[in-house]
Amino acid sequence: MAKVKKTKKNKKVVKKNKLVHSEKTRKEKNKEIKAAPEPVVLQTLRGMKDILPEEQSFWDQVRKVSERLARDYGFSRIDTPIVEFSNLFVRSVGEGTDIVEKEMYNFITRGGDKATLRPEMTAGIARAYIQHGMQVLHKPVKLFSIGQAYRYDRPQEGRYREFHQINYDAFGELDPILDAQMIQVASRIVQNLGIKSIQVQVNSIGCPACRKEYRELLVNYLESKKQKLCQDCKRRLETNPMRVLDCKEDKCYQVAVNAPQSVDHLCEECRVHFKTLLEYLDELDLPYVINPQLVRGLDYYTKTVFEIWSGDEEGRKTALGGGGRYDNLIKTLGGEATPAIGFGLGVERLIIEMKRVQAKPYKAPRPRVFLAQLGDLAKKKSLKMFSELEKNGILVAESFGRGSLKSQLRVADWLGVEITLILGQKEALDGTVIVKNMATGVQEIVSAEKLIDIIKRKLKADSVIIYHNNGNQNGFSHVV
Ligand code: AMP
Repeated sequence: MAKVKKTKKNKKVVKKNKLVHSEKTRKEKNKEIKAAPEPVVLQTLRGMKDILPEEQSFWDQVRKVSERLARDYGFSRIDTPIVEFSNLFVRSVGEGTDIVEKEMYNFITRGGDKATLRPEMTAGIARAYIQHGMQVLHKPVKLFSIGQAYRYDRPQEGRYREFHQINYDAFGELDPILDAQMIQVASRIVQNLGIKSIQVQVNSIGCPACRKEYRELLVNYLESKKQKLCQDCKRRLETNPMRVLDCKEDKCYQVAVNAPQSVDHLCEECRVHFKTLLEYLDELDLPYVINPQLVRGLDYYTKTVFEIWSGDEEGRKTALGGGGRYDNLIKTLGGEATPAIGFGLGVERLIIEMKRVQAKPYKAPRPRVFLAQLGDLAKKKSLKMFSELEKNGILVAESFGRGSLKSQLRVADWLGVEITLILGQKEALDGTVIVKNMATGVQEIVSAEKLIDIIKRKLKADSVIIYHNNGNQNGFSHVV
């Protein structure tokens, strides 16, 4: 930096500046003292919501069903970060897409990295596949994930800014048999959730080679109808013309229905792929409709695309999920050329539909035993007794904070348990427990040592759900 000459005039200016500065900081300090702290806004951000305890049974059901099918079809669980480098999505989802253009939550980290909250899950999973050298694994590499995604969209019923997806991806298999299997898995998840009536829509958007030719035809057609398109589609015509086909505006739909269809312009390889897929679906007895307007919004798709919708008109406002092939994504991101296919189901939308069709949510096992205690010594002993029962797979309820036996029994009644164990001062000293049958009111005194066996027998051993925290999917390993 150039040195400033210490002339008389300069010194004056510096002094004045210092004064102004110190006065300013004093003013600012006073302001800080006077200003009341900004009130905390006690609500979630727009388009985001809490999942309260009473909702969790639906979420449990979705998790259980999707985890179960993942296991049955050979998908291993993967969890990737919610935050990724922004250019991962720009490169994979595509620059001209709504997601990249308008909907991403972008930010710069304190370290200066350009980061984004994931708007979908496949890009991160593809990144992980390359990063961890999964191409050496036995193919297809089948991965399953469940978690949040973020899109800065206009919130409405079934469309949120934070939402959850169940995501299935399979890498390394070109055969359309895998496309059929993925569509089957997606349909089975939805139907196993109790949404029996569904509609599977399929289409083929070809590979980059045949799509180039088709795109030209489509652009020519759309140019001739440009004045009939909405503002967004006029812009899409330049950036992403295939998206015009699935615009929700009625006037664009009218244009789209008469547009040239990608299935009529497939190269031989894509044509055979699509035809074989349809044969597999027929073989599976899996009904489908070919929707020529189905293009999906993301650039990485090739050949097969599909969506799962509710089967009846009333539920058919938004897709429950969708997916397709993305044979070029891994290569685009810098990995070895690897064909792949995947799909995502929206958890919130599945739950809305489950509620609409009155599908039963998962019922967590309820405690059938209540442990009541009275007096200091009994209270101490009951804590250990509770954990012994729990370790042995017996779900127990308690209300340790309550002193009076009467109020504890009231809780036991309210919970509707079958047995209440009562541990008083005398029992704590004797090494016994009172076992009360709540239906008959009959009480007996048993040895604390034999309690576990007695309770198991009383609960009719064949219906006791044994809980082992052994890392299996739902925690409940077997019924004895
Ligand atoms: P997409 O890949 O955009 O079709 O998303 C797959 C599925 O995720 C959709 O079919 C929806 O079920 C769900 N989904 C996508 N965006 C949202 C959103 N903004 N809010 C809730 N669910 C969404």
